[in-house]
Amino acid sequence: MTDDYADLALIRRALQLAQAAAREGKGAPIGCVIVRDGETIGQGENEVDANNDPTAHAEIVAIRRAAKNLQCTRFEGATLYSTLQPCGMCTMAAIWAGVSRIVYGAERDQVHEMYFENRNLDIMDFVRDAFKDDLTVTGGLLADECAKLYYGPDDHPPQREQANK
Ligand SMILES: [Zn+2]
Repeated sequence: MTDDYADLALIRRALQLAQAAAREGKGAPIGCVIVRDGETIGQGENEVDANNDPTAHAEIVAIRRAAKNLQCTRFEGATLYSTLQPCGMCTMAAIWAGVSRIVYGAERDQVHEMYFENRNLDIMDFVRDAFKDDLTVTGGLLADECAKLYYGPDDHPPQREQANK
């Protein structure tokens, strides 16, 4: 199995998690899977609204579960798969956790600005530059399928759903 093939299968799994979360109406449907040596060490969905926890993004939930599963705080060699370009908080959390790769689906410019703080500079450019020895970032896998989960750039989401505004 090539890396590309494995990446596609795993981003599809993150997509399925997000789709299941969407069916349950659990807020912005974002799915995340963390894999190391072919084994899933953690996965999660966005739990911000469900748990009244502004930090409970899918990636943070998955990182916490992986750390608990492995009983350690760093998982070098792991890849984090997310249906949407991770925000700055989650990207830095991945670096703190020693994650080696991030692979994501929908790109920031494919979705409504509510998913990213207006103030948030493009953290990916920053990370690619400042942490290039620590982390590889690949975006745009199954991007169109993932983007369908979210409000598009020109949609008008209900005000109550615009948590980041
Ligand atoms: Zn995040």
